[in-house]
Amino acid sequence: MAANREPSFRDSVDMMFNRAVAVMDLSPGLEEKIRVCNSTYTVRFGVRLRGGIRTFTGYRSVHSEHMEPVKGGIRYALSVNQDEVEALAALMTYKCALVETPFGGSKGGLRIDPREWDEHELELITRRFAYELIKRDLISPAQNVPAPDMGTGEREMAWIVDQYQRMNTTDINGAACVTGKPTNAGGIAGRVEATGRGIQYALREFFRHPHDAARAGLAGSLDGKRVIVQGLGNVGYHAAEFVTTEDGARVIAIIERDGGLHNPNGMNIQAVRDWLVAHGGVEGCPEGTFVKDGAALLEEECDILIPAAHEGVINLDNADRIKAPLIIEAANGPVTAGADEILRRKGTIIIPDLYANAGGVTVSYFEWVKNLSHIRFGRMERRQEEARHQLLIDELERLSADKGLGWTLSPGFKQQYLRGAGELELVRSGLDDTMRGAYQSISQMWNGRQDVTDLRMAAYIVAIDRVAKSYRSKGL
Ligand code: NAD
Repeated sequence: MAANREPSFRDSVDMMFNRAVAVMDLSPGLEEKIRVCNSTYTVRFGVRLRGGIRTFTGYRSVHSEHMEPVKGGIRYALSVNQDEVEALAALMTYKCALVETPFGGSKGGLRIDPREWDEHELELITRRFAYELIKRDLISPAQNVPAPDMGTGEREMAWIVDQYQRMNTTDINGAACVTGKPTNAGGIAGRVEATGRGIQYALREFFRHPHDAARAGLAGSLDGKRVIVQGLGNVGYHAAEFVTTEDGARVIAIIERDGGLHNPNGMNIQAVRDWLVAHGGVEGCPEGTFVKDGAALLEEECDILIPAAHEGVINLDNADRIKAPLIIEAANGPVTAGADEILRRKGTIIIPDLYANAGGVTVSYFEWVKNLSHIRFGRMERRQEEARHQLLIDELERLSADKGLGWTLSPGFKQQYLRGAGELELVRSGLDDTMRGAYQSISQMWNGRQDVTDLRMAAYIVAIDRVAKSYRSKGL
């Protein structure tokens, strides 16, 4: 790692922010107001475990409250620290503005290796952490709504919502205090896959802009593209699975904690994922050749590199050797500010994190709305929509019979057309629309201004401009 030569994650985000505001027309006061992190709460709490009291350290950082509630995941990892949660909270502010979800930015973290604790212990730890945050309104449907991130998932969110509801028995909107819950505990269909699905939609939209793809020296669609993925967790697995099984891309390398797998013919993602879940690593998986130094695979020839593990993996040490012409930042902050500059000079196109992985918060928004409205999406309209479609089909068939035209509608078409959209279809449709719209706004900014040199700068400008407008409308 180039740790000592690199700025911190927080500084890296600020440097990216500074590049954008340098070409914007904001007053210095407003610029500073948007950049700074409003507050970071640190909590140290004890839990009685394994015959003694263990102390844990957790954080909840609120970057911007220009809209409330503020939103952002909770991460469980030993590397969690104040600088990291503040950087991630800042990214949440810009991300929410970019995809037009009505939230400010926040993030939380607990310094813990979840693999060291069993399920019951993790529940005790999570409930205690949640208790500390709930009593300070740092988890609340109206003020601060967490979600899963690295090391957490539906299970932790279910514990958190239950803890909130025990402490707020009369809050009818209690289920909206956290998103990413299991569907039987107030969650929404399509949330688990959402961030990976968003990566797929982002890539599809990128290739729908041939001029943008040409700037990376690429053409066509995702079909046949060679992909390298780092991190086969929630985000990486879903992204890789969707682009291979639905778009014809080929994943030629997968990098995990214990090393990487390489196979130029492409791998079956589900098989690798099953192996990873069963064995805790990818070593020995027959889908590809095992490479102990997994990070070296980041430097292999490919069309698209998807870093989906954690921040800082493309840095001053390896940026020069990255060959991928297109990087899509599925993780938050995988490219450091220093590496970003090197890659820009080389002409590498980077689809930035604040756009690329916004699928998670987008579907979290849908879940929050669902919780507040207390009704599943599609419940009122679905059968009515089907009945109207049936009317049209009946009329077409009657006309065909009356006029002797001999038209027959294929059974496949009829079945598809007659099926009203359920929650999952509606969620995917809303996510696709969001990812397309956001990409169009940043692509327009990128191509429309000489001084906007890259997609990241464009995304920051669009996002910061929206946050600035929101502050201005409040009279700041
Ligand atoms: P996860 O814990 O489900 O998966 C992370 C994966 O990366 C795991 O399989 C892990 O083994 C692997 N990994 C960890 N260290 C590694 C290393 N050094 N090299 C290779 N692989 C390594 O986490 P996730 O939820 O998929 O999050 C991944 C990234 O995506 C994070 O940066 C997170 O902030 C970001 N993100 C997640 C969401 C979400 O909805 N979960 C939303 C937006 C952004």
